[in-house]
Amino acid sequence: MTKTTQEIQSIDNTHHLHPFTVHHELREAGPRVITRGEGVYLWDSDGNKILDGMAGLWCVQLGYGEQELVDAATDAMKTLSYYNTFFQTTTPHATRLSQLIAEKTPDGLDQIMFGCSGSESNDTAIKLIWYYWNLQGKPEKKAIISRERAYHGSTVAGASLSGLPFMQGIFDLPLPRFHHVGPTPHYYEYGNSDESEREFGLRCAKAIEDKILELGPENVAAFAGEPVMGAGGLMLPPEGYWQEVERICRKYDVLLWSDEVICGFGRTGEWFGCQTYGYTPDIMTMAKGISSGYQPLSAVAINKRMSDAIVNADSEMAHGYTYSGHPVVCAVAVRNLELITEKKLVGERGQATSEYFLKQLSLLDDHPLIGQTRGVGLLGGIELVKDKTTRERFSPDGTAGVTCRNHCFKSGIIMRAVGDTMFLCPPLVITNDEIDELFRLVRISLDLTLEELKP
Ligand code: PMP
Repeated sequence: MTKTTQEIQSIDNTHHLHPFTVHHELREAGPRVITRGEGVYLWDSDGNKILDGMAGLWCVQLGYGEQELVDAATDAMKTLSYYNTFFQTTTPHATRLSQLIAEKTPDGLDQIMFGCSGSESNDTAIKLIWYYWNLQGKPEKKAIISRERAYHGSTVAGASLSGLPFMQGIFDLPLPRFHHVGPTPHYYEYGNSDESEREFGLRCAKAIEDKILELGPENVAAFAGEPVMGAGGLMLPPEGYWQEVERICRKYDVLLWSDEVICGFGRTGEWFGCQTYGYTPDIMTMAKGISSGYQPLSAVAINKRMSDAIVNADSEMAHGYTYSGHPVVCAVAVRNLELITEKKLVGERGQATSEYFLKQLSLLDDHPLIGQTRGVGLLGGIELVKDKTTRERFSPDGTAGVTCRNHCFKSGIIMRAVGDTMFLCPPLVITNDEIDELFRLVRISLDLTLEELKP
């Protein structure tokens, strides 16, 4: 018999620990129970229909309930429910997926290793980077530089690589070898009024160079960055920033690592964010959109420079997971990538949808609560402010964001809040009519937020 919302909440409150949660608050309110999804819509256990403006957790590129992915999983599971890729073994689905990904990554990034989550792929990347420098006879090259406000996952290494102190201090992280630089490349918040966005971008890149010089280039293994910084605040890179970062990495022989976990698979308009912003990394990590979230999957791609060293090494690359290249997971991802291609979500349709989405997003600029809107591809950020001209916030602790997020849910739209920045990241299959509906609901939520917050 189906359980009522209250019954599910009660069991959940008794047994279930949730990610990134203040548990006594959750247990007082009771979790929202989501029971069904179709296209860009979700339904909760009380029958409310909600437009998912966040594609789950930035991942459901094809929307919910895509029968082709259900069929791919069913067929693969019937044929070979599991086998591993250890001990000189492979499966057709894992092989095919590695080939498909290699075709889409920039030239040279042709060797692929699988995991189950973005955090896992970032752990793999760190180990491959350290292993590479050991193989090069440069064991002192171990420091990894990333940025303040970066999000790279929540495993011990992922949280260390992230630049978010709230997820580090309580666990006695970061580990040694991880270094974070600021300013974060986000002109709206950190740019000075006497510098152009381009000058600001160069200043941010210079901070990376300064850190390399401070640590000594002979000690620095890699620089890691998200093409667009996602979970830390949806921050778009200033023009010219990535080219300068690439130049600096090459100058000091520091590996350039693009964390494409959010930006990959069409989110910024191309297959990968580094293609949108015109730089070529040595190593890329990816997850989320790789399977549209239908199965837990991630991957690392490395270039020839790294793979030649690793493939020709005499030592065993003693790293991998039980589910690296899981056949069912890979079968779903193969079909997912084929469908993204067939539906031209990277290409004509994706471009047209993005243009329409970004136009509608910019129309919100006239709203009294909005200090800035910004976006690329199908990513949108909205700054909530008390005063449009001075950019003064309602309070330093991001209460406007939480208020707005709650009004969104009640109005039937999911937007995520980090501080007073609201995010949009809808499924890539969203239609123009659904985009109209999305922004109609966003406006209602903003009006209700303004109503509640105005003095
Ligand atoms: N890197 C980036 C850029 C991310 O956005 C995320 C997740 N939001 C991760 C890594 C970690 O991925 P996961 O939650 O699948 O471990």
